[in-house]
Amino acid sequence: MCEFCLKHGEGKKWYLQANNYSDDLLSDIRRREYIETFFTKTEEVKRHIQRLDQLAKAPAIIRTVARRIITGRMKKDHFGQVVPIEDIERIFGFVNSIVRVACFCRYVTLGTEKRYCYGLSLSPDGGGLGQIIRGLDNSFLTGPDTSGFESLTKEQAIADFRSHEKEGLCHTVWTFRTPFIAGICNCDQVDCLAMRCTVKHQIPIMFRAEYIAAVDPDLCNGCRQCMRLCQFGAISYSAANGKVVIDQARCYGCGICRSVCQKDAIRLEERRTVPAAAGLW
Ligand code: SF4
Ligand code: SF4
Repeated sequence: MCEFCLKHGEGKKWYLQANNYSDDLLSDIRRREYIETFFTKTEEVKRHIQRLDQLAKAPAIIRTVARRIITGRMKKDHFGQVVPIEDIERIFGFVNSIVRVACFCRYVTLGTEKRYCYGLSLSPDGGGLGQIIRGLDNSFLTGPDTSGFESLTKEQAIADFRSHEKEGLCHTVWTFRTPFIAGICNCDQVDCLAMRCTVKHQIPIMFRAEYIAAVDPDLCNGCRQCMRLCQFGAISYSAANGKVVIDQARCYGCGICRSVCQKDAIRLEERRTVPAAAGLW
């Protein structure tokens, strides 16, 4: 279990606790203000990206201190976790509103609208989160041929997520002033600042999943399709036995590799039950 499960989930998966999505948490005025201003900080976020690139060239001691400060601050404000599609379905099972909106990361990095993010609420109309999203600056929410945000049924949303898996995108839940969870994004290492920061710069602003992948060598035929989708470089091919193997130290447990496996050879195991991976977050 990650530390959020212990602090915000009573020892269970914290992102499966309905109260972490509640309007009660959103009634905190500072949290509402944080969300409202979050989506206006395009230029500030661009400056952060430049600083991260500069930090990569700094001495190790400075990088270590900066990592502690940034990760500590983000855990309080805006932190994520990789979540496989089974748990996404569980989340969709108890929320009452799902809206699809433009991804802020892609808006900053690409300057264009990519609808990879999903706002969640326990209220049928989106509740307080819906009010905030509707009030956001139109330049972020609307592209040339779209309007505002789309309300989706649970079935539509899960179909979207399956389609994102085929694109190799990794599902992540996000807090806005922890432990309030406002939504799920679909990330890649090139365009998503959080994943870039966590994986490339080694400054964690999201946890790995509560799971880890394993390959059944009796089922794997060595087609290597799964390697194409793994964003973390966790899968390698053994020419000696004609099968793939998963590096547990690299695997984030996203489960995306399974979406292309015709042999059903990859399964997810609970991270806490795999000693070599239980402490890797
Ligand atoms: S996609 Fe499945 S069968 Fe193909 S290499 Fe990966 S695990 Fe093996
Ligand atoms: S090997 Fe691990 S990190 Fe890579 S796609 Fe599969 S579950 Fe995700």
